[in-house]
Amino acid sequence: DEDLALLTGEDGEPLLPSVQRNLPVVAVVGRPNVGKSTLVNRILGRREAVVEDRPGVTRDRVFYEAEWAGKDFWLVDTGGWEDKVQGIAYRVAEQAEVAVSLADVVMFIVDANVGITTTDEQLLKVLRRANVPIVLVANKVDDQRGELEAAALWNLGLGEPYPVSALHGRGSGDLLDAVVAAMPEEGRGAPVDHGPRRVALVGRPNVGKSSLLNRLAREQRVVVDDVAGTTRDPVDEKITLGGKEWTFVDTAGIRRRVLQSQGADYYASLRTHAALERAEVAVVLLEASEPISTQDLKIIDMVLESGRALVLAFNKWDLLDEERHKALEREIERDLAHVAWAPRVNISAATGRHAEKLVPALEKALESWDRRVPTGRLNAFLGQLVAAHPHPLRGGKQSRILFATQARTRPPRFVIFASGFLEHGYRRFIERRLREDFEFTGSPIVIGVRIRE
Ligand code: GDP
Ligand code: GDP
Repeated sequence: DEDLALLTGEDGEPLLPSVQRNLPVVAVVGRPNVGKSTLVNRILGRREAVVEDRPGVTRDRVFYEAEWAGKDFWLVDTGGWEDKVQGIAYRVAEQAEVAVSLADVVMFIVDANVGITTTDEQLLKVLRRANVPIVLVANKVDDQRGELEAAALWNLGLGEPYPVSALHGRGSGDLLDAVVAAMPEEGRGAPVDHGPRRVALVGRPNVGKSSLLNRLAREQRVVVDDVAGTTRDPVDEKITLGGKEWTFVDTAGIRRRVLQSQGADYYASLRTHAALERAEVAVVLLEASEPISTQDLKIIDMVLESGRALVLAFNKWDLLDEERHKALEREIERDLAHVAWAPRVNISAATGRHAEKLVPALEKALESWDRRVPTGRLNAFLGQLVAAHPHPLRGGKQSRILFATQARTRPPRFVIFASGFLEHGYRRFIERRLREDFEFTGSPIVIGVRIRE
């Protein structure tokens, strides 16, 4: 099968080693012709990344498993999928953005013989915005004379420039030592030890936010966290639920009755934004006894935009009759299909009904939000999926998925590298299957597609 063959090299060797570990990713970044592919080949110690610019020469691989000084990592040549159609500035910025979204360490390559060009500067501008260590590589230093030019690169403020000759191998050992030193033990998304998880209770006025807060806090040790600074600063509360401490953010905003004046909606929405910004998971309260409103949907959209985990809580369940219950089911199907993946709890803040179900829902959503699918498993899954359901042929062309990786967590963000355009419906299909197979319950997931011509 052609698509499955993608996942194996010549002689059937797996192209994507089924590494279950969370290896750090090192991205090789630089404008065209500085020697990225040559360097990648040098590091891999074999002629694998094709150094060729002829059209039609497909470089099927972008990720390579590499090793130095006993450390394994993924090596990515981010220049490999440059699109010749768009302007150079756009391509360069995009390359850098992809690199920093994926990488744990960036190797920034410049041609020491040419010095810094405006294109290099554009790249650097994007790289600097991210909090990823950058190792500066002065390439094409084929002999000692070139080292003088390389030394001039100290000016960039990126620390020591490593003079190398990717072509001849000069200096590459020192460079790799520096890269390995800058590398974290594990790649992004490795589980970290969290403090109390941060929860935002959001919803339109009168859905029952402050009643729920009081219900949860009842007979609990409540610690009011006063953020130092102005009195306008939000106040958080720590509440112990299910044996664990949780931080409910901006509880002062919930407890303070919103003034029924002009602009109240505006300020309420600002507060919601601010609370989401500081939270990890949002509980959107809806009023089960009343129709789902556009304001409810707007608040859900705000959560989706914020990329936070989501739990839907239908409050005032005690007011529900049979008829309203049926109507609600229809409304959920019609208006909330796009968040069908969010856990739902049916509660009553007034009676306390099912309030204890909130904690497992929060935990489930946060677990998905934190989840990292190992690169090997992800590609095994995609290999099978694509083999069973190939992208539809368009104009005699078949877009192929080359590789995918989960670049981030919180929320999970995937990058798929493809040989051509992936249709919207196909992306949705992949997203749906990803959700099902890896059980992303309660977390938005983001899928980016990178096309290499
Ligand atoms: P990329 O576009 O950044 O991937 O650059 P390539 O790896 O394709 O290299 C561009 C050109 O520079 C090729 O002709 C390489 O042979 C040459 N090149 C790469 N590294 C070196 C080096 O260290 N010294 C010299 N003299 N040439 C190099
Ligand atoms: P907030 O504006 O979202 O903080 O809403 P409040 O907590 O102030 O609640 C608004 C009104 O709804 C109050 O009169 C509450 O007593 C009432 N309420 C809140 N939760 C429930 C519930 O579960 N059942 C019923 N019947 N009333 C509730």
